[in-house]
Amino acid sequence: MSKKWVYAFKEGNAKQRDLLGGKGANLAEMTNIGLPVPQGITITTEACINYYETGCEISKDIVDQIYEKLAELEKITGKTFGGKDNPLLESVRSGAKISMPGMLDTILNLGLNNKTVEALTKKTGNERFAYDSYRRFIQMFCDVALGMNKALFDDILEGRKESRGYKYDTELTTQDLKQIVKQYKELFLDQMGYEFPEDPKVQLMAAVEAIFKSWNNPRAITYRKMNDIPNRIGTAVNIQQMVYGNMGETSGTGVAFTRNPATGEKKMFGEFLMNAQGEDVVAGIRTPQSISQLQEVMPDVYDQFIDCCNMLENHYADMQDIEFTIEEGKLYLLQTRSGKRTAQASLKAAVDMVHEGLIDKKEAVLRIEPKSLDQLLHPGFDSKELEKATAIANGLPASPGAACGKIYFTAEDATNAANKGEAVLLVRSETSPEDIEGMNSAKGILTATGGMTSHAAVVARGMGKCCIAGCDDARVDENKKTLTIQNETFHEGDFLSLDGSTGNVYKGEIKTVDAVLSDEFKQIMEWADEIRRLKIRTNADTPRDAQVAVDFGAEGIGLCRTEHMFFDADRIIAVRKMICSKTLTQREEALKSILPMQKEDFKGLFKIMAGKPVIIRLLDPPLHEFLPKEDEEIKQLAVEMGISYDELVGRIEDLQEVNPMLGHRGCRLDVTYPEIAVMQTTAILQAAIEVHKEEEIELEPEIMVPLAGTYKELKYVIDRIRETANNVFKQSGEKVPFKVGTMIEIPRAALTAHEMAGVAEFFSFGTNDLTQMTYGFSRDDAGDRQGL
Ligand code: ADP
Ligand code: MG
Ligand code: MG
Repeated sequence: MSKKWVYAFKEGNAKQRDLLGGKGANLAEMTNIGLPVPQGITITTEACINYYETGCEISKDIVDQIYEKLAELEKITGKTFGGKDNPLLESVRSGAKISMPGMLDTILNLGLNNKTVEALTKKTGNERFAYDSYRRFIQMFCDVALGMNKALFDDILEGRKESRGYKYDTELTTQDLKQIVKQYKELFLDQMGYEFPEDPKVQLMAAVEAIFKSWNNPRAITYRKMNDIPNRIGTAVNIQQMVYGNMGETSGTGVAFTRNPATGEKKMFGEFLMNAQGEDVVAGIRTPQSISQLQEVMPDVYDQFIDCCNMLENHYADMQDIEFTIEEGKLYLLQTRSGKRTAQASLKAAVDMVHEGLIDKKEAVLRIEPKSLDQLLHPGFDSKELEKATAIANGLPASPGAACGKIYFTAEDATNAANKGEAVLLVRSETSPEDIEGMNSAKGILTATGGMTSHAAVVARGMGKCCIAGCDDARVDENKKTLTIQNETFHEGDFLSLDGSTGNVYKGEIKTVDAVLSDEFKQIMEWADEIRRLKIRTNADTPRDAQVAVDFGAEGIGLCRTEHMFFDADRIIAVRKMICSKTLTQREEALKSILPMQKEDFKGLFKIMAGKPVIIRLLDPPLHEFLPKEDEEIKQLAVEMGISYDELVGRIEDLQEVNPMLGHRGCRLDVTYPEIAVMQTTAILQAAIEVHKEEEIELEPEIMVPLAGTYKELKYVIDRIRETANNVFKQSGEKVPFKVGTMIEIPRAALTAHEMAGVAEFFSFGTNDLTQMTYGFSRDDAGDRQGL
């Protein structure tokens, strides 16, 4: 037996989304639970895939099955396709597995021609309606199936309305509509060079093919890309008996959500239009009425509709988005799907549904799209003001939230202005560690270059601050202190507004509103805590970051990068001395002055974490990142170190590497200069002992060795750490438990993890280096490049 390509609605069910598409599966489900659905058939997504596999041809097998099922449909409806007495008209509707609202196409009133339009008139006694349907069909068919320019048809329609002095389509008389149909057909002949196809079968096959083709129209492809929907899955096609919302004042069409999709409130939300068809409601032709008004217009239909909505919501146990049509006082349901909603609405609906007994807590938590919660945690723009604004540039949405302020081009200027109480945005080509303070005092950060893992992006996310990075449209001249976007130049003190969640840059001031976390948010989080097995640690380098994370519920620190502590302005001299030291004694001398500072840092961190686990990673970046670059700085350092300028320049040159990211960094530093590991271990353990004593906090620091690639080097460094620990414990006469582990971030380490595990007590995964080295690309640059 050949494959089944076509299903009658009553043969399918809601579970067959893959095969029948979302719309088809739900039409089948609604049919089976006894709701008033105009009957029809669904051509499977497999048929669409087959269409593309056969080089864009609808196989004979599929065509045969369509007509077979169509004959059954004629029996059920008592109407005949192309019939002279009681013609069956159809809608041809696309519907993929995953809903893509408005992305694929629909054709209504298919089957009309010069004969059936007369039959429809006779059958309904409503000539105006018949011709209104006809003109709609010709326009939709020409636009969707044949790709003709829709505007040419609109011109004819609008021209007629204008010459008659009408405002609304509903004012068009039968004569007007007949005239419009005539003009449409003339336009067709003129454009296409042949007569408009009168044969309903030709119309049908062209429509089915057009739906298959619409799967690959540019807006559908873009939509799929944006929403991670695979290209291969294809769309189903639904051929459904038409019901008519355009038969007069007791007919109409509308859409409704069973709950408010913006707030989640349990109250019907939607719109309808009387004497209208299809997309009239959303097309803005006339102003639709709110769904509650249907109660006054047609109380019985309203009650029946509410019953259907309740039934559907209970049946699917989710908020539904429902399309309906009323034909001369009779209600039909045309579509149901789970309603798209805002993050806040999804929280409220999920919590309410648990209280209503519709779903359980686990299901409620699963209903929330984790990514969407980000919307709620950061300040956003006032939605009214945002509607009026247009973006002037777009960059990478590096750190979410909204910010508005005066622009400044150096960290110092930004800090000074912020100290005077100004709202400030820091605008740079790219930020570097020296900009930290300026970034801290700014409300938001904009950089012209750099990717999602650039310094600006990483630091801004750590600070929970809005940041747009890699804004290609922006040119920053840090000397002239200007920012140029699309030929417009902005100067210091000009207002800009940044949306770090979308990457949009706006001119001028847009008011922001603070994030307020709703009770539903807290409730969902509590449920998530009850259910989850994973624990969550934060990334934090400073007591301040740690406090923010703890306030959000972090259960420990997974990564504290100690380099931050080396970069600090008042320590950099000591660090530079250490790096440029010629002898071990000199280096140890310099490290001795860094030790107490590091110890204080760790004590601050341990106190805030109050016994929660903390992983501290030893120094990771290549040393030359710390070196002075400006001539002045070099001179000053030479004096401090008591060596000549030339000698110092020589040493700095020695430290340069061609590929520093693959060079003298990570645990290799500790192999060449074990005294760095010794100093850091001492600082960590002394801090732990002191905090334990002072605050009676039980703690167990975890020391992490970065970038290890071989067992041997890891063992060497870990042995040094353990030796140091013994010394620290001996000297202080006190002990604290601690662990030593490593970060797996070199592919070799991942592959030899079983060896590494012989000395490491824990592993972390350093996904940036691991990704870069496995794929061989730079994550700092890859962010805004195509194809990655
Ligand atoms: P989308 O997937 O973009 O929502 P639809 O296939 O639902 O497109 O079609 C759009 C609109 O066309 C529907 O909301 C409905 O108003 C109208 N429509 C579709 N099928 C029929 C039908 N059988 N009878 C009457 N109107 C229909
Ligand atoms: Mg629809
Ligand atoms: Mg790394």
